Amino acid sequence: MSKSVAVVGAGIVGLMAALEASRAGAKVEVYDEARQPGRGASGHNAGVIHVLQPPFLNRKARLARRANRLFDGLAEEAGFSLRRQPALLVYRNKASEKALALAAASLLRMLAYKVKIVGPGVFRDLCPDSEIRPGGAVYVEGYATVNPVEVLEALRGLLESRGVEFHLGVRVDSLRVGPPGEGVEIRSELGERRYTAAVVAAGPDTMRLARSAGLHPPRVGFYKGVMAVARLNCDAIAAEIRSSRRTRKTKGGGVIPWPDGRVILGPTFARVSDPWDTSFTREELVEAAEAYRGILGFTPEVREGLAGTRVKNEEKDDFYTARRGRAVFLGAIDSPGFTASPLLARWAVTTALGDL
Ligand SMILES: Cc1cc2nc3c(=O)[nH]c(=O)nc-3n(C[C@H](O)[C@H](O)[C@H](O)COP(=O)(O)OP(=O)(O)OC[C@H]3O[C@@H](n4cnc5c(N)ncnc54)[C@H](O)[C@@H]3O)c2cc1C
Repeated sequence: MSKSVAVVGAGIVGLMAALEASRAGAKVEVYDEARQPGRGASGHNAGVIHVLQPPFLNRKARLARRANRLFDGLAEEAGFSLRRQPALLVYRNKASEKALALAAASLLRMLAYKVKIVGPGVFRDLCPDSEIRPGGAVYVEGYATVNPVEVLEALRGLLESRGVEFHLGVRVDSLRVGPPGEGVEIRSELGERRYTAAVVAAGPDTMRLARSAGLHPPRVGFYKGVMAVARLNCDAIAAEIRSSRRTRKTKGGGVIPWPDGRVILGPTFARVSDPWDTSFTREELVEAAEAYRGILGFTPEVREGLAGTRVKNEEKDDFYTARRGRAVFLGAIDSPGFTASPLLARWAVTTALGDL
């Protein structure tokens, strides 16, 4: 019997799900309300392929750590650039910060992460533009960066070459999910179309679509991250270990060198009401850049910026994953969702198609 899969959402999770479904031999159709992939967080993020994700042992952290290794093969297959580099968690010369770094390194080693403590020279060699001389750094292997928009474009090309059909500019209004044998009906301006299975990865709209299928998704909040783009000479992702509370709200941010030579500073982290908010002001860009003075010793000239909004599960620090019949819903895919996407997609397609 031939299988068909509808994917709702052409963000990273939807495109990865389309790839998985196509690999599973299904006829795949992707719907997106926008005219091109990447309208949501997938086209507006920091591009880090993560290794460490506090608190290290939860599902998000485990998925990202395992999925990280799949990106080299994906980069080759789809044809996007990937820059492998270490991350340096830099500490200053304060005793409390050194103690924190040593404790972090031994905890991470216990969890089998590849980390070591390095002296100030390693940071200075990798980031020669920095004017500071730190106490040292926790050196973490295995990180990478990508330009997320390039990844989405490359995946779209790969999917089209595999015969996946895109319905861009088409909003899915609702789903009707019958028992597994009946499949899933997708309702949009194209009419009502029936598929063997569906994967819904519609960012914030996953919650509404899950409710339309009779599920009860958790409450979510929206958090915007603004990122400044600069040109700096740096061959590592760098973040600061601080023993005192931060004055600015940042979340997992750092100095992040992309494969195309640009360096991202940020992101910031602030609650907003519009889940599609990608706006930023000059002041927000400067604030994002100034947050890294502790690592750089100066505020670099900001050339451009970007911003994206995360959808966070407010009830539990986890992604929302649910199934109903042969429809699978993936929502609240907060950071490190870009990194985790290949494995989230694999799970979704295996669950949706079941034993078919
Ligand atoms: C500032 C920032 C920095 C981040 N940094 C990182 C990072 O460095 N590393 C990392 O791993 N993760 C990072 N993330 C998280 C990552 O970007 C997200 O986890 C991921 O992009 C979520 O992808 P998604 O496909 O679930 O959602 P989205 O990208 O939001 O895609 C959803 C798609 O669904 C479409 N859609 C919505 N409703 C409908 C509908 N009814 N019908 C049809 N289409 C619809 C939308 O148009 C959109 O294209 C960051 C996020 C932000 C905001």
